Amino acid sequence: MNATIAVLAGDGIGQEIVPEAVKALQAIGERFGHRFECRNALMGGCAVDATSVPLPPETLSLAKQSQAVLLGAVGGPKWEGIEYAKRPERALLGIREALGLYANLRPAKLYGPLVDASTLKREVVEDIDILVVRELTGGIYFGKPRGIEKTATGERGINTEVYTTEEIRRIAIVAFDAARKRRRRVTSVDKANVLESSELWRRVVIEVGKSYPDVELSHMYVDNCAMQLVRYPKQFDVIVTTNMFGDILSDEAAMLTGSIGMLPSASIGGTIGLYEPIHGSAPDIAGKNIANPIATIASVGMMLSYTFNLQMEAQLIEQAIVKTLDQGARTKDIFSSGTKLVGTKEMGDLVLANMMKSP
Ligand code: NAD
Repeated sequence: MNATIAVLAGDGIGQEIVPEAVKALQAIGERFGHRFECRNALMGGCAVDATSVPLPPETLSLAKQSQAVLLGAVGGPKWEGIEYAKRPERALLGIREALGLYANLRPAKLYGPLVDASTLKREVVEDIDILVVRELTGGIYFGKPRGIEKTATGERGINTEVYTTEEIRRIAIVAFDAARKRRRRVTSVDKANVLESSELWRRVVIEVGKSYPDVELSHMYVDNCAMQLVRYPKQFDVIVTTNMFGDILSDEAAMLTGSIGMLPSASIGGTIGLYEPIHGSAPDIAGKNIANPIATIASVGMMLSYTFNLQMEAQLIEQAIVKTLDQGARTKDIFSSGTKLVGTKEMGDLVLANMMKSP
């Protein structure tokens, strides 16, 4: 297979972790006979410095000509004072919108060797493997009317939760398709006892579910789900939910697993998928070779699985990460006594070596 990947390392630790992920991608190419042509472009603060805009047209056009985008992270204190439209983070919204990425997939998987890095008890978090599918371009973050208006006695703030049948249908399809590649269970999370938009959400998800008789569908109110995630997270496989509920629940699910440096994400929905770690540019540790590259390497795994449907290749990356952790290698964020402290580059090299060694 031949594919072009737009590589947008961005700012801060993005410059250190993305090269490690690209190494893993090229190694997959070598082992399995694929050709991944990686083309670099500017996005975020580095693009502001070079071109005065955070998402230059050339970057967007490269992304559109590619089959997938690999993103590091953008932003940092250097660009915090500049006008809103030129902030590096605006590039994230711009590229998601331009590529029609309405589904955000965030797996929260606890790697066995890191079980003690979680703030929850071992028996609660051991073996959790959850995928939160969050609707990304609708709901209360985008609904109209919105704003703050004067009233006779003061002011009132307004936001509106709006979902159309089509918006719900397409995110439900993403969730059911993802479940088919996993343990075939979908939990749809809503507030259908109170909100009409949730009532429609539930109805449409049930309708979509009829085309997936091999996937078990259940429903949960969001308040109960927030509680169940810390009480008994192992009950979940795929969680599908609205923009705001997903925003909150995906962060809660991520924290079950310990470090933010471990978690990948995929934004899909258009013809081109965007893959990135869930963390930011970590300016506090940038340039020191101490950032954890695993979230970005695992994002390449998601790219292989979701954009290219290369499941064996994706598994090889996954297995190499587990093996490297099993061997005791740890970046600073996941280090504990009795393990071996390694830098960003060394961690990338060890994962790579395990990929090449594995039978
Ligand atoms: P952050 O995720 O960058 O960092 C939070 C904490 O986690 C820091 O202590 C950092 O050192 C640590 N951390 C993050 N990634 C790590 C890794 N791979 N290995 C080890 N430790 C890691 O969040 P922040 O500090 O709130 O934001 C910093 C900048 O990143 C801001 O400009 C923010 O706007 C931007 N940001 C960008 C994205 C993105 O590009 N998608 C997402 C979030 C934040």
